[in-house]
Amino acid sequence: MVEAMTQRVVDEMRLFWEEGVDFLESGGKPHTRWAAGHSKPRMINTRNSSGAGFTRFLVRKALAKGVTLLGGITVASLLKDASGRCAGALAVSAEGLSIYQASAVILATGGGARAYARSDNPRGAVGDGYGLAYQAGVPLVDMEFVQFYPVCLAEPGRAPLVIIYDALLEAGARLENSEGQNIPDLYGMEGLGSLTRDALGQAIWREVSEGRGVNGGALLDITTIPAGRAGRISHLWPKGTGRYKVAPACHFFMGGVVASPSGETEVPGLFAAGEVVGGVHGANRLAGNALAEAWALGRAAGEAAAASAMDGCPGKPGTGEALEDLHGLALGKPGRRSQVPSIMWEHVSLERCRDGLIKALALLDHEAEALSASGTQDFAGLMGLLEDRWMLLAGEMVTRSALAREESRGAHSRSDHPAEDPSWRCPLEIRRGVKDMRIEPRLG
Ligand SMILES: Cc1cc2nc3c(=O)[nH]c(=O)nc-3n(C[C@H](O)[C@H](O)[C@H](O)COP(=O)(O)OP(=O)(O)OC[C@H]3O[C@@H](n4cnc5c(N)ncnc54)[C@H](O)[C@@H]3O)c2cc1C
Repeated sequence: MVEAMTQRVVDEMRLFWEEGVDFLESGGKPHTRWAAGHSKPRMINTRNSSGAGFTRFLVRKALAKGVTLLGGITVASLLKDASGRCAGALAVSAEGLSIYQASAVILATGGGARAYARSDNPRGAVGDGYGLAYQAGVPLVDMEFVQFYPVCLAEPGRAPLVIIYDALLEAGARLENSEGQNIPDLYGMEGLGSLTRDALGQAIWREVSEGRGVNGGALLDITTIPAGRAGRISHLWPKGTGRYKVAPACHFFMGGVVASPSGETEVPGLFAAGEVVGGVHGANRLAGNALAEAWALGRAAGEAAAASAMDGCPGKPGTGEALEDLHGLALGKPGRRSQVPSIMWEHVSLERCRDGLIKALALLDHEAEALSASGTQDFAGLMGLLEDRWMLLAGEMVTRSALAREESRGAHSRSDHPAEDPSWRCPLEIRRGVKDMRIEPRLG
């Protein structure tokens, strides 16, 4: 997967560049910068540092090719024909249900960071794709590896905005605990190489749990950046006094659906691309590699899905089970809010231990019972219940995998097993069993 991604990504970036995506430039080429953990300056950014420039480009391209974009719908189930080939999807909108027939389906539903109470992801990123794939019989890997971005704004009433901390700390900013000590110094982090998201996030978490936190996080002080360096990077910090309360927030799922480098899953006709796919980043993704993966392997998945669709049409999709399932979900009393995000934040976030994970599983079980007693009388409510279900399922996958992996590795830190253990150097795979979730090491 890594080889496929690295071979394709340069061509993808060249295409974006030639098509006029608004990159930060230097010397007539996209500007490359260092980021924490990288061995070379290889991060590229758009001029406003956001992904919107790329998204706008892709939407424009899709519309120009005659692709119909549908908003306001949520896919509730993947549908198969009698042979077991993926043949479409059942979706819900506020107006009702729709069935989409398709010769090939690509799952590109993003991650599940909103299954955590504190997250920088957009609303709705609750892991739908993990649940959809699981229910269709596709295995998943690495679900215990969840990335927390270490430095997000934690000011009351403000969104948990991501702050490009590595460039700021490099330039002379300080990240302090409540006693005014610089956290990177306390943990022996010297230079960009050591300031990876997992290490810094876990250091902040430890300061908070040992009573030296600032409002559940730390204090980022950018007033210590020398004036000569501040001007060039002033776009990297939010408006304010220059001293910000910051804290980690859930950012990215390294785990996900098992797919080939061309996006094929175990279910014929079903492909996957982007954050929903697991395995490319191992235990700890480096900055910039999410979009690199999404574009490089996304194109591969698109090409393979198109070839598969040209190869033959699936039969009529069966809808009986999916409709029955939705009906079951809607039955019950309306009006309950899911507790999954707070359970996951408290027990399954930056530092885990056996007791906490067992407690989380018991609480998630309770949530499952509460969900099956909840219901709705309209389609908007049904969309909300689906969200609760996907969050619950993603939460269970992460918690069970985290409990099984008795070591610490990358973003998965176990206080009761603090060292990396070479015998655990294999991914954990999740499959849907007859009754329960099955988790086993994936060998070979
Ligand atoms: C604040 C922030 C900054 C980031 N910055 C960077 C960066 O600089 N570089 C980098 O490499 N990565 C970055 N990332 C990570 C990267 O943006 C994501 O991993 C990437 O956008 C995922 O792309 P995707 O296409 O897989 O999913 P998404 O872009 O999340 O798209 C998924 C789409 O599927 C839709 N969807 C989900 N479920 C359903 C359903 N059931 N039915 C119908 N539709 C559904 C969603 O509404 C959404 O439109 C950042 C992430 C965040 C949150």
